[in-house]
Amino acid sequence: MTTATTSPAVTTAPAFTADPAAHRVLTGDRPTGPLHLGHYFGTLQNRVRLQRQGVEMFVVVADYQVITDRDIADRLAEHTENLVLDYLAAGLDPDRATIFAHSAVPALNQLLLPFLSLVSVAELNRNPTVKDEIAHSSQAAVNGLMFTYPVHQAADILFCKADLVPVGQDQLPHLEVACTVARRFNERYPRADGSPVFPRPEALLSTAPLLLGTDGGKMSKSRGNAISLGATEDETARLIRGAKTDTERRISYDPAGRPEVSSLVLLAALCQDRAPEEIAAELGDGGAAALKRTVTESVNEYLRPIRARRAELATDRGHLRQVLRDGAERANAVADATLAEVRAVMGAI
Ligand code: ATP
Ligand code: MG
Repeated sequence: MTTATTSPAVTTAPAFTADPAAHRVLTGDRPTGPLHLGHYFGTLQNRVRLQRQGVEMFVVVADYQVITDRDIADRLAEHTENLVLDYLAAGLDPDRATIFAHSAVPALNQLLLPFLSLVSVAELNRNPTVKDEIAHSSQAAVNGLMFTYPVHQAADILFCKADLVPVGQDQLPHLEVACTVARRFNERYPRADGSPVFPRPEALLSTAPLLLGTDGGKMSKSRGNAISLGATEDETARLIRGAKTDTERRISYDPAGRPEVSSLVLLAALCQDRAPEEIAAELGDGGAAALKRTVTESVNEYLRPIRARRAELATDRGHLRQVLRDGAERANAVADATLAEVRAVMGAI
């Protein structure tokens, strides 16, 4: 096996608006809790934009990946339905996007076997995101799925031959695994005409690739530091009031020097669709209290229509399950075709 890995090309704006039909997007989330502002401004907003441009999209609810860092997938069905609820409320259209749980697509999971043969144990061991997740895991022992899930993610991406993956910054090491798997598979198993089976997927980062939570760490569903899209306005105000800041009264936008304050400024800026420097200058010497008031008002105003849609959609759980069934049917057809091709180029009968 060659030891060189393949870094993903990273773009911050979809460069292909001229030809959306030529591309395919895969993104997804773990059903570990409700989606939060980090998801929205990190990837979800870009997904909705891409969908509006007419790009074909697959959205995976990564249910097997829940048990990478915990023993049991708690309230799995409820979390899965609520993810779909958040997607639809944010603007994903199930008629245009294929939304499915990867445990419902057997052929996708089978790709994991040949893909695992393409990466070394040393490569699995040095993945920085996996290391960070192990550090935050409450499990007594690290399980095998934790080390191999980036390869599972490569299967999520490559089963539908996606070439663009809107993600947050923590996912870049995993995209590198997907690119490496695609390249090594193509080298080892070319088609009869020499053409590659898999594309090289590209990461699409937003302007908020790593939104911080109320404790100053990465905003995460599982770390108790998130403001969820479905939170009430009062809950939102309470959470933002408790967010970590610093003692300096002058508000500035300096992500490296003042990460917590800057993340709040960025949040207000994203909601108001303005530059963070402008928001900081406006707040001037107002201190953390004024900053938090502005952020609370901006977030609640921005999310009001999304929350109203969410409340409406939440009354029909049957529809959410139907979206997943329809998505699984479409995803299975695509995965079966890809697995058949993989088996053929490998020489399996
Ligand atoms: P968990 O704590 O269960 O791992 P999470 O909040 O990290 O949940 P994931 O389901 O792991 O969410 O991530 C889904 C997608 O959202 C990924 O593309 C990830 O990069 C992106 N994302 C998650 N958190 C943030 C964040 N704070 N800022 C920007 N993007 C994020
Ligand atoms: Mg995560």
